Amino acid sequence: MLTSIKDKSVIVTGGSKGIGRGIAKVFAAQGAKVTIAARGEQAAMDACNEINNGGGVASFQQCDVSDWESVKSMVDAVAKAQGGVDIMCANAGAFPQTKIVDMEPDEWDQVMGTNLRSAFLSVKACIPYFEKAGKGRVVLTSSITGPVTGYPGWAHYGASKSGQLGFLKTAAMELSKYNTTINAVMPGNIYTEGLQDLGQDYLDTMAASIPLKRLGAVEDIGNAALFFASEEAAYITGQTIIVDGGQILPESLEAMEEI
Ligand code: NAP
Repeated sequence: MLTSIKDKSVIVTGGSKGIGRGIAKVFAAQGAKVTIAARGEQAAMDACNEINNGGGVASFQQCDVSDWESVKSMVDAVAKAQGGVDIMCANAGAFPQTKIVDMEPDEWDQVMGTNLRSAFLSVKACIPYFEKAGKGRVVLTSSITGPVTGYPGWAHYGASKSGQLGFLKTAAMELSKYNTTINAVMPGNIYTEGLQDLGQDYLDTMAASIPLKRLGAVEDIGNAALFFASEEAAYITGQTIIVDGGQILPESLEAMEEI
């Protein structure tokens, strides 16, 4: 049993859909005051309504995580409304699939902005509030793709997710000054709106290549994020946890057939 996070002010970027929505639901179920930050209002309001109708507390702040002014004003608004920021779940991300030969430089920059620059901006904007409170927590949503595996079409994505882990190590050292930890969850293939866009063939092939024989649920990531955000994880910083149903383990296709 983890120490309660009731009434903690938690920001979940990309909390309107997929993994972020799962993180928001898991934290709200524990009594946290959740702010969902995303660009689109409709999906975010749906997510907030689901949480609020279920007895939780959630509100929406519009934000583009790749834009400094947007992130700073979102974090400042949350701090004003909730009396601070206790936990930042920097989760928003995008994964367009384009091979290098066809990739326009602009697409590379866009993916870096949404996935990597956003991690830096989200942390930077929270520092004044962590400093004021004398404590804080950051949880990044990285990926197995990039740090551990490769997949055609995701060179930019993989670089951004590996980049998050490079950022993590120095950020953990710098944030220790504010008694703040930063860690990253590395999901495998999690059943989300974004993943569904890749098509049923992709989903079926992926599920078949995972030892636990299913795609992950968004709550699987939410629970790992909750642990990193807990009091019990106070001495863990600059670390990662892979949540992938064993997907990175098989050495070959034959290895899966042996199970
Ligand atoms: P998703 O279903 O496509 O949801 C993405 C979320 O991020 C949405 O809420 C979206 O809302 C928000 N978002 C995207 N660009 C944004 C921007 N510029 N500013 C603010 N919000 C933005 O994606 P997902 O599958 O849940 O993935 C979430 C995170 O998990 C990403 O970082 C992804 O790389 C990572 N991940 C996912 C998987 C997987 O299997 N699903 C595996 C490994 C890692 P708006 O579009 O309205 O802004």
